[in-house]
Amino acid sequence: MNTASLSIVPMVLGPVQTNTYLVADTESRVAAVIDPAWDGAAIVREAERREWRITDIWLTHAHFDHFAGVGGVAQNLDAAPRIALHPLDWPLWQLRGGAAWFGVPTFDPGPPPNVELEHGMQLALGTLEFEVRHSPGHSPGHVMFYCAGQACLFSGDLLFAGGVGRTDLPGGDWETLLASIREGVFSLPDEVQVHPGHGPSTTVGRERRTNPFLVD
Ligand SMILES: [Zn+2]
Ligand SMILES: [Zn+2]
Repeated sequence: MNTASLSIVPMVLGPVQTNTYLVADTESRVAAVIDPAWDGAAIVREAERREWRITDIWLTHAHFDHFAGVGGVAQNLDAAPRIALHPLDWPLWQLRGGAAWFGVPTFDPGPPPNVELEHGMQLALGTLEFEVRHSPGHSPGHVMFYCAGQACLFSGDLLFAGGVGRTDLPGGDWETLLASIREGVFSLPDEVQVHPGHGPSTTVGRERRTNPFLVD
């Protein structure tokens, strides 16, 4: 019998209140950090408290507020983690995630990504599987992580509860963003839980019915 289940610890970190998600397969106690926003040492402590072992860092995109904690996480782990990013956001990573656009002083970006994400790729976390969904519009290499078995989606800055990601930063595009939401999110069942990069969680059905940016 497969008793694996997903445990999700949300942490709000950094200067722009970014959601970092520490996610683990409770069976194998293997964990990934989705978007370590800031304060990597605190993220690792949170995992240690639960006796989880962080092996992976998965980035939805390379704005600074989604990866400024990578260095701190890596420094506090015994083994170097896999760090996954879509290659279309690599130029943004090299610009330190556009931190200067926000007046944020430069920071240690930590080790560079060493896994290239691509659309449709499956990421394993213990016995759980997450599907990579390329979803440009907010940034060119933005992706979401979808765990069908646990009916949840980590939507980064593509879609928020009652909102959508901004498209005015370099590489952003409104029509592309709408297409990504239609194809990448609204193709999923209503009951899927959506965990965004900022603000509270929601569901696919609630956003389909009530998101003011998306209802006709
Ligand atoms: Zn962003
Ligand atoms: Zn963000």
